[in-house]
Amino acid sequence: MTTAPLSLYLHIPFCARKCPYCDFNTYAGLQALFEPLSLALAREIMAAGAARARPPVHTIFLGGGTPTVLSAAQLARLLDACAQAFSILPGAEITSEANPGTVDRPRFADLVSLGVNRLSMGVQSFDADELAFLGRIHSADDAEIAFSSARAAGFRNISLDFIFGLPQQQPATWERTLQRALALAPEHLSLYSLIVEDETPLADWVRSGRVPAPDEDLAADLYEMAQARLAAAGYQQYEISNWARRHPTGDNFQSQHNLTYWRNRDYLGFGPGAFSGEQGRRWSNLRSPAEYIRRVNAGQPVLDWEEQATPALARGETMMVGLRLLDEGVNRAAFRTRFGLDVAEAYPDIVAELRARGLIEVTPDCVRLTPAAVLIGNQVFARFLPG
Ligand code: SF4
Repeated sequence: MTTAPLSLYLHIPFCARKCPYCDFNTYAGLQALFEPLSLALAREIMAAGAARARPPVHTIFLGGGTPTVLSAAQLARLLDACAQAFSILPGAEITSEANPGTVDRPRFADLVSLGVNRLSMGVQSFDADELAFLGRIHSADDAEIAFSSARAAGFRNISLDFIFGLPQQQPATWERTLQRALALAPEHLSLYSLIVEDETPLADWVRSGRVPAPDEDLAADLYEMAQARLAAAGYQQYEISNWARRHPTGDNFQSQHNLTYWRNRDYLGFGPGAFSGEQGRRWSNLRSPAEYIRRVNAGQPVLDWEEQATPALARGETMMVGLRLLDEGVNRAAFRTRFGLDVAEAYPDIVAELRARGLIEVTPDCVRLTPAAVLIGNQVFARFLPG
């Protein structure tokens, strides 16, 4: 078993209302399962820690779903289980997602007192029509109030999520959303283009012609607009969809938890549908919250799928996720330590071709995308995966 610090992801599969574009494993109207789910999740965490002799952990992420629909006691149960089952390192990043429609200052104070030191808030837009289209339960003002309440409760590390590239989105509304976001001076911003996921109401709307499909060229323009605005405001774009402010002490506010994924390091996921990756083995839990609870309570496995990555797949995935880090890229020394050869030796033809086309650069330390390749990153990543 690994002794390198792990990251833990806790999946809370509940939302006050399901957004029409969302394909996450999350459900509305399951209040009756809040308590049993939190008990089952704590049991799964305890069992995983015991099986690994309480290894060190450097990040915990409460995601979903909307973790803030759970009570303070239920969230405390989950974090207590993490602290009992794992050795939480001093200074560990502990993040909770929060929907502005489910939080107020006392709720944030609860989170602070539980040791949560980072918030990730799904704002998505500051435009009323866009929020209505996205089916969000909060207004633009709610989001600003939630942000101020989080600050007042003591949060010094807040990330805000936004979605761009909505059908027929006006650049002017995106501009206003960015301005209002920057006026709040969050430590971190995540900007995602709207994706029409299969089997969502949004996909039905597009299929039936009720709404036009998102326009990729418009999304690219809005993305470049955001890149310029955020750079001017002092944010570093450290990942394709993520920007962070520098900390006055010289540290930065990059998401330490998500860096685990982008560096292809080990993480354990708990809860219905959660994914894990450890020592090349990857697995996921079954998705149904009710069945998950039943099996945990019966002492039965909740495994739904697993595979052991081949060396070629593990290398390719390390390239795919590492190239998302625009500055850091894929660390050549770490790659060599893990796979026994340099990136250029593992992929001589691909690296030569992508360099010649100006899509990647190879420095003494890393391999990374060039700015010209950011918008076509997926095409570059795909080249490294085994055919
Ligand atoms: S609040 Fe987030 S997780 Fe819940 S349905 Fe909406 S987008 Fe999905």
